[in-house]
Amino acid sequence: MLYVVATPIGNLEDISARALRILSEVELIAAEDTRHTLGLLTHFGIKKPLVSYYEHNKLSRGPELLAKLEAGADIALVSDAGLPGICDPGYELIKSCVDAGIEVTVVPGPCACVTALVLSGLPTDGFVFEGFIGTDNKSRRAFFDRLRSEPRTTVCYEAPHRIIKTLEELCRIFTEAGEPARRVAIMRELTKTHEEAVRGSAAELLARFENDPPRGEFVLCIAGTDNTARANIEGPADDDAVRGYYGGLTAGGAAPKEALKQTMERFGLTRNDAYKIIKVSGGNS
Ligand code: SAM
Repeated sequence: MLYVVATPIGNLEDISARALRILSEVELIAAEDTRHTLGLLTHFGIKKPLVSYYEHNKLSRGPELLAKLEAGADIALVSDAGLPGICDPGYELIKSCVDAGIEVTVVPGPCACVTALVLSGLPTDGFVFEGFIGTDNKSRRAFFDRLRSEPRTTVCYEAPHRIIKTLEELCRIFTEAGEPARRVAIMRELTKTHEEAVRGSAAELLARFENDPPRGEFVLCIAGTDNTARANIEGPADDDAVRGYYGGLTAGGAAPKEALKQTMERFGLTRNDAYKIIKVSGGNS
């Protein structure tokens, strides 16, 4: 049987009694980093043979482990932190076992995604886990595009050196969508001594982290599109109403730029759409 065993994401007290028992009972432990897991096992006084199973050897090591499991061995799979299979090596081995009819069970425990979601204070009744946001422009653009219209809370992992860049992009897309106050929560160093949850708009979080460079491990939780707020705004945009509203503001003395901003917020329009409608009427922004 394959035991997929969750291990702590920081605080060693979070290991479960069942995880310790299974790790002491199996014949072999397949670990993402054997040195890292050796430290964990030593801390809990467990001695077991370890083999590595990580991103770059999973294709060769997987069949070896599968053969042992087919021969009746009990093997535990662990990663460096949290639940194997969640942004960690594990999925392929689990799938191979399922396909081969080998029994698999999970010893549940810490997972940064769910821990962060609960701590964020954002809606938990439906959420999307995006894994790591990604490093190349194409996948980042696709991620931000999905976010624009996602009604559920989005949870994702991000490297510390990309947090500022990500917050800048969130500021830009939410302002463009007329939702500058869309809530974001950044969870740092969960379960560790310096655990921190920072909640606010993307602009507020950006101001905070620009003054205090991000360090440690991070999970980002981003609120879904604010359907309630959208239901309270005028809309869907009737062009005459948009022009009338904008005209009223400028006639009342508002600067064109400010009037455009208020019109965007009022009708839930992007800058481009609001501008196009107003321009047709000869308005000037
Ligand atoms: N399997 C893990 C799990 O169950 O959450 C995730 C492993 S993934 C390779 C590592 C990423 O998870 C980190 O870069 C960070 O984004 C997030 N993470 C892991 N531990 C964390 C912690 N203690 N606090 C905040 N984020 C954490």
